[in-house]
Amino acid sequence: MSTATSAVGVWQLRSKLLIQATLVFDTAWRIGSGREGQTLSDLGVLLDPTGLPLLPGSSLKGRLRSTCEQLASILGMTACMLDSDATGVECVSDVDQYKRLRAEYAKTLPGGAASTGTDQRLTWIDEHTCDVCKLFGSPVRRGRLRVADGQLLSWPGVIEVRDGVVVDRDSRTAVEGLKYDYETVPAGTQFRLWIELENASDRELALVGAALFEWAGGSSLGGFTSRGLGRFHLENITISGVDFSNPQERIKYLTTPDPEKRFSDRGDWQEFFQKRIEQQLGSC
Ligand SMILES: [Zn+2]
Repeated sequence: MSTATSAVGVWQLRSKLLIQATLVFDTAWRIGSGREGQTLSDLGVLLDPTGLPLLPGSSLKGRLRSTCEQLASILGMTACMLDSDATGVECVSDVDQYKRLRAEYAKTLPGGAASTGTDQRLTWIDEHTCDVCKLFGSPVRRGRLRVADGQLLSWPGVIEVRDGVVVDRDSRTAVEGLKYDYETVPAGTQFRLWIELENASDRELALVGAALFEWAGGSSLGGFTSRGLGRFHLENITISGVDFSNPQERIKYLTTPDPEKRFSDRGDWQEFFQKRIEQQLGSC
C-alpha cells in the first residue's frame, strides 16, 4: 500500500528520526532573561524558578537553522533566510513573495485561488518553499524539525558577573563613566539535547547531518558570542528512529511508555549522515 503520491499522503506521518547528544559549553555563555539578574546585574541570564540555567529549545533551533542556512548552498540546497529579495531564493515564506506568486497562480486556475482545496494549497506551498523553511517551518507552514529545551546534566553551580563597557558606535571608543555588568553561566555546563525530525528526506538528513558535524567540532550559541562567549561542542551523539511502514517499529512506538525506547537504533551517526551527504553532493 502506498499513499505517498496522493495529496493526503504527503502530509501523513511516515517516519521520525531522533538525534540525542550532550552539549558541552567550553566557555561561559548566556541566554538573556531580558531583565535584571538575580545578582542584581543589569543583564540577567535565563533561569528556572529554582535558579538553574535554562537552554530553551527555541534558542537551539534558531542556531541550528542558521547553521543549516550557511551550509545549504554547499549541498546544492536552497535557503531564503526569510528574505527572498536579498537572497534571490524564491520562497513563499517571504510574505511579499507569497502574495505575488499566489496571485500569479490564481490567474492560471479557471475558478481562481478559491477553487483549490486545502491539500492542493498545501502542496502548492510546499513546491514554492525553500529547503530550509520546509524543514524548520515559516510563517505559512509548520516545520518538521523540533528541538526540546536542553535538559541540564551538570553545571558549576554559580552565576558569574562580568563588566561591560558602553561603546560609542560612531567613534568606537568607550564612553567614559558608562559601564554595565552582565551575568554569564560558567564553562563546563552540560545539557542533553533532543532533536526530532518528521518525514525527513535523504537530502534533508544530509543538511542536518552536516550541521551536526559542525556542532560536534564546535560552534557558538547565545548572547555576546563576538566577545568569545557561548562556545560549545557536541558529544555522545546517537540516532534512532521509527519507520511507520515497518509493523514491528510501529507497534514498538505505539506501545512503549519510555520515550527513548520507542525508537529503534539507526547505528553510527557519522556513517549514517556521511552516506547521505555524499549522495546529496553526488546529485547536485
Ligand atoms: Zn524559505
